[in-house]
Amino acid sequence: MTAILIDGKQVAAALRAEVASRVAALTFTPGLAVVLVGDNPASAVYVRSKDRAAAAAGIAARTIRLPADATEAALLATVAGLNADPAVDGILVQLPLPPQIRPQAVIEAIDPAKDVDGFHPVNVGHLHDGRPTLVPCTPLGVMRLLAHAGVSIRGTRALVLGRSAIVGKPMAALLINADATVTVAHSRTRDLAAECRRAEVLVVAAGRAEMVRGDWVSNDSVVIDVGINRLPDGRLVGDCATAECAAHAAAITPVPGGVGPMTIACLLDNTVTAALGRRA
Ligand code: NAP
Repeated sequence: MTAILIDGKQVAAALRAEVASRVAALTFTPGLAVVLVGDNPASAVYVRSKDRAAAAAGIAARTIRLPADATEAALLATVAGLNADPAVDGILVQLPLPPQIRPQAVIEAIDPAKDVDGFHPVNVGHLHDGRPTLVPCTPLGVMRLLAHAGVSIRGTRALVLGRSAIVGKPMAALLINADATVTVAHSRTRDLAAECRRAEVLVVAAGRAEMVRGDWVSNDSVVIDVGINRLPDGRLVGDCATAECAAHAAAITPVPGGVGPMTIACLLDNTVTAALGRRA
């Protein structure tokens, strides 16, 4: 068997176009503020992509840059200003933050109604209650890819490999809300390969290059590879050995070009959701 490749670029382009048409129908311009602290090059690239994608969708994006030695108080004051600014519908503070700033203090300072990353405890609570409001962009993108691939989630055995607050935990909550039977695996899981083999839907977010091998994947399963890892030779690979896994799976996401493009598209979608929620 050779798996169908789920084309995240295509699904993300369609979502961005859908967002642009939702924005065009509004009587106001939604606003997105991205806060970047320091000069982490990967974050800077990511923030530029967000700016470009937001502008293309008709969203007014602005980036606020603070120096790497900014204090937590300075960042909290910036967030407070954005919370109070009526033109700002979505606030995203780019992670990771420098060590002098506690990420949780910053996340909790963002107005939950503007929390387009979906990391605020109020939004996390809503998601786990089964009443999602603003949902973290990467797992939201995975759900859209599964829908695009025609995967019927209800009743399926799903395994999420990884339990981070950004990907694994919200991913598990979304799958539970969609009526999957969900296992969450992590670095202390015994016999990980056997756990993975039981899954009909396998979502991998471990941050370990090509860790999931072909014989971890059951025949006819759907494999979503969230991982993005840069190898010493410069190649970008996922957490799954894609060619090996594709020999067993019915469908798989490539890296790059799978989950990655969905994250920014879902951020734009969340910005419009936040704008409509606030201005309704
Ligand atoms: P993270 O915070 O480092 O979490 C990794 C999770 O994987 C942890 O729960 C960890 O278990 C588990 N894990 C690590 N090594 C393992 C092993 N050998 N066996 C079993 N479990 C293991 O990472 P993250 O932020 O969730 O990101 C995961 C990956 O997704 C990274 O490659 C990241 O670059 C990528 N990512 C991509 C996007 C995108 O837009 N496509 C967005 C976000 C993240 P413990 O909890 O026990 O430590």
